[in-house]
Amino acid sequence: MILAVSILKNPSSPADGYRGRFAPSPTGPLHAGSLLAALGSWLDARKNGGQWLLRIEDLDTPRCIPGAEQQIQEQLLDCGLAWDEELTYQSQRQGLYQEALEGLNQQKLLYSCTCSRQTIANTLVELGVLTPRNQEIVYPGTCKPAQLKINTPDEIGLPKAAWRLALPKNCQIEFEDLALGHQSQNLNTEVGDFVLRRNDGLFTYQLAVVVDDAQQGITHIVRGEDLLSNTARQIHLQKVLGYHTPRYLHLPLVLDEYGEKLSKQTLATQINTQDEKHALAELRKAAQYLGLRNLPDGENITIAEWLLAATHAWGS
Ligand code: GLU
Ligand code: ZN
Repeated sequence: MILAVSILKNPSSPADGYRGRFAPSPTGPLHAGSLLAALGSWLDARKNGGQWLLRIEDLDTPRCIPGAEQQIQEQLLDCGLAWDEELTYQSQRQGLYQEALEGLNQQKLLYSCTCSRQTIANTLVELGVLTPRNQEIVYPGTCKPAQLKINTPDEIGLPKAAWRLALPKNCQIEFEDLALGHQSQNLNTEVGDFVLRRNDGLFTYQLAVVVDDAQQGITHIVRGEDLLSNTARQIHLQKVLGYHTPRYLHLPLVLDEYGEKLSKQTLATQINTQDEKHALAELRKAAQYLGLRNLPDGENITIAEWLLAATHAWGS
């Protein structure tokens, strides 16, 4: 038996087939920051001889901009960043999220919450908990029942209730980020029981991203460091849903030529891919932010040639 276990291959190892992805939210066209995540994840997939999938994260419909999704596809193709397999839309995968939610319900891990932001803030004041600026509010567990139970479909359909995941005590999550090294977060003290379905009925990013990455067999997640603080939550969800945890690589913060963090202004400007020359200039900027050095800088190079050189330079 022990022998059988020890020869089981780790499904996340590149030998089994690297599968990466780029998962933009269609809240606008690609900008320098999102191109960086696209290029970084594409290069990592190509370098590892893997597949690179495109998934449109269009769950938060009020925030989606009509047309942005087509624009993103065109911009990626203009930059030579073609994806493998058919692209997917989260808006068409609600059944999968519902199924996962129901699985957690059967494990008695869900409870409804009717707190408003204000109620939560007031409770924290009463408890004497100060939330530092720029830090997330830690949900104090106000609505958590003494005894967790399996909720009926009627209860889950309650209007104006959010559904939270009950965390175990001492939920300390540790992982090795391929770029940033050892990471650790205590979900109880830094996050609290988090929401999986919002009170407007929408499934949250945390649930959807975990279900999709598992369902699509993603082995490597390469994305911007702005998403780092979500990773511990996602790893915990993977554990309770019985999924494998992929490898994570968070692309370090983008610095300008003076070593300063790029301003929102610079990062949020739509990239210009009107012709090959402009697209290549955008790619070159992104590569610089990624720390890729000694790439061909001539005028007479095609995007395909440049991407090949960048793939060689990636990770070396
Ligand atoms: N859709 C998320 C975003 O655009 C990214 C999700 C992810 O890469 O995990 O910020
Ligand atoms: Zn509540």
